[in-house]
Amino acid sequence: MDKFIKKTEDNLPTLAVVVPCYNEEEVLAECFMELNSVLERLITENKIASGSYVLFVDDGSKDNTWNLIKRISDDNSNNERARGLKLSRNCGHQMALLAGLSYVDTDICISIDADLQDDIECIPKMVEKYMQGNDIVYGVRKDRSSDSFFKKTSANLFYKFMSTMGVEQISNHADYRLLSKRALAALLEFKERNIYIRGIIPLIGFRSDTVLYARKKRIAGKSKYPLKKMLSLAINGITSLSVIPLRMIAVLGFLTCLIVGLFSVYVIFRKISGETVTGWTSLILSNFFLGGVQLLCLGIIGEYIGKIYIESKQRPKFIIEDWISGKQND
Ligand code: UDP
Ligand code: MG
Repeated sequence: MDKFIKKTEDNLPTLAVVVPCYNEEEVLAECFMELNSVLERLITENKIASGSYVLFVDDGSKDNTWNLIKRISDDNSNNERARGLKLSRNCGHQMALLAGLSYVDTDICISIDADLQDDIECIPKMVEKYMQGNDIVYGVRKDRSSDSFFKKTSANLFYKFMSTMGVEQISNHADYRLLSKRALAALLEFKERNIYIRGIIPLIGFRSDTVLYARKKRIAGKSKYPLKKMLSLAINGITSLSVIPLRMIAVLGFLTCLIVGLFSVYVIFRKISGETVTGWTSLILSNFFLGGVQLLCLGIIGEYIGKIYIESKQRPKFIIEDWISGKQND
């Protein structure tokens, strides 16, 4: 239990800021400069230990991201403030984040996006809440005024839909959060491949708190989360955390049987009374309708079976191609 004991003022906690990066050459230098200045400030104010650092995770970028991470780390080799991890290919934001989290060796870690849309001034507040005894501190957006109309509407729909589907998560919280060493250890206990981190964190438990902030616009570059990736994140979130869609299929099947049962009473009654059914249109429509519903249901079931198939293979979640860490490179 020793390693989980909270640090005192004389024994300051070390902090790692984990930053997943995919084609982020335009923002990296500024991102490091800003994060580093917050770390330096916290170190000078005796809030965190000097062994704190920023860990960039290059998620198989096709641009100059990794070379930039190397350059930043070389420039800061005297204080080892910048470290890097390079994944062998693009594994997606969630996996890149998980890769980074699996490699940190500090008392606390904070995950943040490279584009600094999330207010870095929350970092000192998060550390303060940790010192007050919280193991998880969620960064929560006050509003969505900086988002485009599309992003705002799709995000609102996303949270509503996820909640209807039984995925409970903190609204307006993405992956900007602080985790204590024991909360991180608990997160890493979830061995599944199809992981939706922000849906798993509330399952960990422990004392938690939130800090509110206004999200800014990207400092440069374009969003690396196109609609396709957002949809796949949503499907992954639902199928990895909830079986409600499967239950809905059962309910749908039951309701269909009920309707067909009532309908057959009516049809038999008409037959007995000598009236013949001439409704070809209704017959063909109901045929198509039921065919469509059945295919949809099969698709949903297939999605879950696919997930079981992938989980059963136990493939590695990510593969590390290279890393930069002061000590290990020596
Ligand atoms: N990202 C990643 N792998 C991907 C896509 C995105 O590591 O396949 C990173 C990206 O570099 C950024 C974070 O995930 O640091 C969030 O992406 P972005 O800011 O583009 O998403 P948005 O804010 O537009 O939702
Ligand atoms: Mg962003």
